[in-house]
Amino acid sequence: MKAQHSGFEATPDFAARMDTADPLAGYRDRFYFPKDEAGNDVIYFTGNSLGLQPKTVRAYIEQELKDWETFGVAGHALAKNPWLPYHEFLTEKMARVVGAKPIETVVMNALTVNLHIMLISFYRPEGNRRKILIEKGAFPSDHYAIESQIKFHGLEPADCLIELTPRDCEATLRTEDIVKTIEGERDSLALVLLGGVNYYTGQVFEMREITDAGHRAGATVGFDLAHAVGNLELHLHDWGVDFAVWCSYKYLNAGPGAVGGAFVHERHADCPDIPRLAGWWGHEKATRFLMGPEFHPISGAEGWQLSNPPILQMAALWASLEIFDEAGMSALRAKSETLTGYLEFLLGEIQDERITVITPSDPAQRGCQLSIRVKNAGRELFNAITARGVVADWREPDVIRVAPVPLYNSFRDVLSFAEILKSELG
Ligand SMILES: *Cc1c(COP(=O)(O)O)cnc(C)c1O
Repeated sequence: MKAQHSGFEATPDFAARMDTADPLAGYRDRFYFPKDEAGNDVIYFTGNSLGLQPKTVRAYIEQELKDWETFGVAGHALAKNPWLPYHEFLTEKMARVVGAKPIETVVMNALTVNLHIMLISFYRPEGNRRKILIEKGAFPSDHYAIESQIKFHGLEPADCLIELTPRDCEATLRTEDIVKTIEGERDSLALVLLGGVNYYTGQVFEMREITDAGHRAGATVGFDLAHAVGNLELHLHDWGVDFAVWCSYKYLNAGPGAVGGAFVHERHADCPDIPRLAGWWGHEKATRFLMGPEFHPISGAEGWQLSNPPILQMAALWASLEIFDEAGMSALRAKSETLTGYLEFLLGEIQDERITVITPSDPAQRGCQLSIRVKNAGRELFNAITARGVVADWREPDVIRVAPVPLYNSFRDVLSFAEILKSELG
């Protein structure tokens, strides 16, 4: 592997200089870090799995506990942040993170639930047009959800699922191959459903090109942004994506089981012919409490809501989104490219032939995560670096995923990780 950034140096001095020059370095202090046995911050590289807790979260949740204590049911209207419209306080901030208009964005449910809700509306097999294009090795929950939706329509997954596989001896997919597959299924494709970032390889999909190709083929196009939201700069509206879903406990740091989000493009905001699962929170606000039997959806993504929202979880997400708003996705992404570039450089400097990075080396084709394949190392290597204070994750059979996130990881973290990995490789 060759170093792409000749300006980098594998020294503590260099890492310290990078941290000093980093305009986002101060954000690290806004998060709680787990400690190692000596009481030092661990090297936390699993923001792609569960982001760290912002120190402000507690106050946001306590506000709602206090208002519940004080007002009981009247808190729906009288709480400092009234619960009735509570989800709306998050909409614009969330919309900025995903590059959407507020009318296209809603915070609700969890990812897989939202995926099902969107598939009900946007996977509508008709005649020959009933196939769904996904990645082979897609996240299992997505796979289960999609297969079950196919069966729900009385169809066979074997007839309806097209799985993209990399070329022989390649770890990631080429956009040209994805586009060619879409074109080849021009008459049979109902839906393209890919991740924004593949959770295993860390590859970013070229969402604009894929969306255009899907639309040219007459298909609907949706993305699972679990590993993309809060990691990449997204432009869902401009890219013309039909729908997207995501969770908020990974890069968005909103806590375990956090409330997720969904995007529905404006062009679908008021289409009465789109079937959907309905619930009272998706009903027009002005007449919701008349409690009539007829469902009139709110225009836009909010019309897909089912239940009244979990205020305590929303409070945590709100605290986190304030930080994203303040830091800004483009500044975060700029740091992220350098930070991950530094990690890639240091892995190259280890000069050990057992190491390969399966994540693309082009920064435009990856987020912050690198997936490191270590030949013949097995789980012991992973256990050894864990014992030395590295929190990363292991994916069978031979991949260590590390995700230095720009909000709270430092260049020093990256250097320490590389030093530990090198010494444990022996
Ligand atoms: C994390 C993740 C999920 C998790 O789904 P939940 O419904 O939030 O439990 C689903 N899909 C992908 C691609 C993920 O990365």
